[in-house]
Amino acid sequence: MKKLPVYTESIPGGAIVATNLEAVLNFGRSKSLWYLLFGTACCAIELMCTGASRYDFDRLGMIFRASPRQADLIIAAGTITKKMAPRLRRLYDQMSEPRYVIAMGGCTVKGGPFYYDSYSVEKGIDHIVPVDIYIPGCPPRPESLLEGCLHLQEKIRKQKLSEWQEK
Ligand code: SF4
Repeated sequence: MKKLPVYTESIPGGAIVATNLEAVLNFGRSKSLWYLLFGTACCAIELMCTGASRYDFDRLGMIFRASPRQADLIIAAGTITKKMAPRLRRLYDQMSEPRYVIAMGGCTVKGGPFYYDSYSVEKGIDHIVPVDIYIPGCPPRPESLLEGCLHLQEKIRKQKLSEWQEK
C-alpha cells in the first residue's frame, strides 16, 4: 500500500492505474470479511468463542452474517456429513464472487476421527467446495482461526482482479 493516492499521481500508463486500484480494492476487501457460519459440531464452539469478547473477531473487520448473499467468506467448522454436503454447496453457490472458504478443524479438513469406519462423514470439504485456508486441529483454538484469517487477508491483498472469476 505504498502508492495509495492513485488519483493524484502522474500516470504513465493504464497498467499502473490498474495495479493501484487493485491494491486499494484488495485492501478494503481484506479488512471487511463478512463471514457465513457453517458450524456443525464441537469446532463451532471455538468459532463462536473467537467471535466473543475475549478474542473479538470484529477487530479484524470480520462481521458475522447469517445470509450467504452478503457474505464473502464461509467458515465451515465441524463434522460435515454426506447429507449436509449439498446444503454446504448450495450456500456457497449463493454467495457472490469473489468468495472464500476456510475449513476449520480436522473433521472439516479431512474427516477427523471419522476418517475410518464411517459411511456418513465427508473426508474433507474440498470434495464439495474449493478451500482457501485449512486450519488443522481437534479442535483448533481461536488463535489458530485468527491466524488463518490473517493468512486469508494476505492472500486477498495479493489477488489480481483477473482472478475474480467463478471457481
Ligand atoms: S475436529 Fe474434533 S473438535 Fe472439531 S468437530 Fe471434529 S471431533 Fe469435534
